[in-house]
Amino acid sequence: MLSKKIEDAFNDQMIFEMYSANIYLSMATYFDAQNLTGLASWMKVQYQEEMFHATKFYNYINERGGRVIIAALDAPATDWASPLAAFENALAHEQIVTARIGKLVDLAIEEKDHASQNFLQWYVAEQVEEESNVDGVIQQIKLTEGNPGALMMLDRELGQRVFTPPAEGA
Ligand code: MG
Repeated sequence: MLSKKIEDAFNDQMIFEMYSANIYLSMATYFDAQNLTGLASWMKVQYQEEMFHATKFYNYINERGGRVIIAALDAPATDWASPLAAFENALAHEQIVTARIGKLVDLAIEEKDHASQNFLQWYVAEQVEEESNVDGVIQQIKLTEGNPGALMMLDRELGQRVFTPPAEGA
């Protein structure tokens, strides 16, 4: 059984992952509206990643005898000043997620819940990758600044990204 504290905190993080998914889906709409369909597609893959993160919490809470609660989501932003601003916002958001995962690890240690500590390590590693991926795109967008042709090429390249569910499963 999960302690009530862990059950509540994991439900809260599951909802936050769904909120993250909606932020990236909203960024996809922003890019689609500008005909940057590759960046839109990249963000739709990111949306799927976040829903995978949420579902992984769902399955774990359920597996440990907790009750999954679907609560209201905050509405995401709908507009950004530029493609660079959108990706910088994405990086800032992922840094918030990383801090939240760190707090969950602290809580699992406090609660002496070894299974939850182990479960969370997947997210600790995933966050390193998430921040690195987004930062990589930021650096590439910066290189295209003032060159619409280069941005179009980058858009085409980033549009190649596909969603592959991580091997560890949910
Ligand atoms: Mg996530």
